[in-house]
Amino acid sequence: MKYSKIEWTEATWNPSTGCNKVSSGCKHCYAETMAKRLQAMGAPGYENGFEFTLMPDRLSAPLKIRRPTKFFVNSMSDLFHEEMPFDFLDKVFDVIAQTPQHTYQILTKREKILSEYCNGRTIPENVWLGVSVESAKTKSRIDALRVIPAQIRFISAEPLLADLGALDLAGIHWVIVGGESGHKARKMNPTWAINIQRQCDEQKVAFFFKQWGAWGEDGVKRSKKANGRFFLGQEWNEEPSLIHAVQG
Ligand code: SF4
Repeated sequence: MKYSKIEWTEATWNPSTGCNKVSSGCKHCYAETMAKRLQAMGAPGYENGFEFTLMPDRLSAPLKIRRPTKFFVNSMSDLFHEEMPFDFLDKVFDVIAQTPQHTYQILTKREKILSEYCNGRTIPENVWLGVSVESAKTKSRIDALRVIPAQIRFISAEPLLADLGALDLAGIHWVIVGGESGHKARKMNPTWAINIQRQCDEQKVAFFFKQWGAWGEDGVKRSKKANGRFFLGQEWNEEPSLIHAVQG
């Protein structure tokens, strides 16, 4: 069953909320807008708005769900934020290890802290680790990710803001591409997405096209829904596990 509107996951789990901006992909951060809206509505957990806040009460949430669920961890924050204590991260990973029926997708823009945390620790098999890569400038995040011994490693190229050029996808199992949403959205040139899809095909990496966002394939601005998810004449919903199995 699907509880999240995010196309590539089923549910979200936010053991922390809030963040601050680290690169150009953060400019129109959805989590910031949403956190401020929830704060104005008086929603529990958002008393601090978009300030980084630990949510210990939420740690046990996945333990109460028996049905296998794919969780996007921290849709409203960055799990590897500078203010995240490693002993709290240990608790998050303890819950993950105790719930092998679930899959946990963890995406960060803070690859240095990710590397530091993972060094010497065992990553549970049900973790998919990912980094955001929105421009050529942020491609070094991939190098940090590929050496971390996670079962699945993925890249989120969303919002895709520039041509990424040549990509070394060794050790990477899945790439997600998407354009930016919202009224101030920056345009994704279709050739940038085509370049990534072609390299995924050549390097046998699963490719997922999430959305065009505010700007359509034809360069016209309209609603995200109207622009849809069709890319090169089809929907791209490849999952990493299938390709991974083929690669052995
Ligand atoms: S890292 Fe993610 S959550 Fe944090 S500001 Fe950037 S886009 Fe928002």
